[in-house]
Amino acid sequence: MQKFDLIEPTSLDEALGILGKEDTRVIGGGTALIVLVKNGLLRPRYLVSLRKLPELGTSKPRGTGMSFGACTHLRDIERSNKVRERLPLVSAAVEHIGNVRVRSAATVGGTICEADYQSDFAVALLALGGRVRVRGLQGERLISIDEFYVGPYTTALDTGELVTELEIDAAPQGASSAYLKCVTGPVTDRPCVAVAAVVGLDAAGACVHSRLVVGGVDGFSSRPLRVTAAEQLAIGAKITSQTIAAMSEIACRQADPASDLKASAQYKKEMTKVFCRRALEQALGGNRGG
Ligand SMILES: Cc1cc2nc3c(=O)[nH]c(=O)nc-3n(C[C@H](O)[C@H](O)[C@H](O)COP(=O)(O)OP(=O)(O)OC[C@H]3O[C@@H](n4cnc5c(N)ncnc54)[C@H](O)[C@@H]3O)c2cc1C
Repeated sequence: MQKFDLIEPTSLDEALGILGKEDTRVIGGGTALIVLVKNGLLRPRYLVSLRKLPELGTSKPRGTGMSFGACTHLRDIERSNKVRERLPLVSAAVEHIGNVRVRSAATVGGTICEADYQSDFAVALLALGGRVRVRGLQGERLISIDEFYVGPYTTALDTGELVTELEIDAAPQGASSAYLKCVTGPVTDRPCVAVAAVVGLDAAGACVHSRLVVGGVDGFSSRPLRVTAAEQLAIGAKITSQTIAAMSEIACRQADPASDLKASAQYKKEMTKVFCRRALEQALGGNRGG
């Protein structure tokens, strides 16, 4: 493995100054980055760790949702009752990531910046919405989750910028959600297909809020597929078995996955239909119109 220097700045300004140097990368938990370095796919000279910046390690309620410092570990999210109460979809998705060792090391910043096309976290994020707080030498900016994932292993971060915080919005009050993951290997694997469904009904049982997001089915893009045509079909209607079947069919038609070692593209399309149906049924629980 190529040698690198690990630098642990004690202020954000110091970190940003170092990040300006050539061949420098931020390191979170290192669970993704070190594999790339070991395999010679990345050859950084300096790795900048943010773990001595206490302000990046805190999470707190924000509005009805939560904000997480970039160094928050996934294991802390998984174990937090506050997150389970406010963002049950995020808790459910995080529990599916790898194993306890991975979740204990992996950070929020690293998880979103890795931008792998098979990510549990990104699917839940797209279904809820929120903002990524970013700092660079030019100052701070907020990027909406919708705009953060821009392509295969690519985010909207500019050179020299790092993520300091992630703000996640809660689903509207009364809405319920489900997160389901299809794996073709060990349960600790990344998802072959992953689905997040969020549904809110009014007192008469008509749908007033609907989100359907599928991960791993948009080529190798880091951006999960938001199935807006299916969401719109549900709005204003009572959601019946026929509505669920039609929504799942739309998701299947829109899915354009790549074949990889996990499964063929055709299998992923079929699983998109199956897992959308199951996720919508689970989110609705007993609240269906027949
Ligand atoms: C055995 C194993 C099983 C796994 N299973 C799953 C799974 O089931 N589901 C799933 O979704 N994922 C899975 N993963 C992937 C895992 O979720 C990621 O490796 C992890 O979330 C990355 O977080 P990290 O903090 O370790 O990132 P790092 O490896 O430290 O960094 C990843 C990338 O983000 C950049 N980065 C880190 N922090 C910042 C920051 N604050 N600002 C800007 N850039 C930053 C780094 O430079 C690097 O490019 C698995 C990984 C392993 C090793």
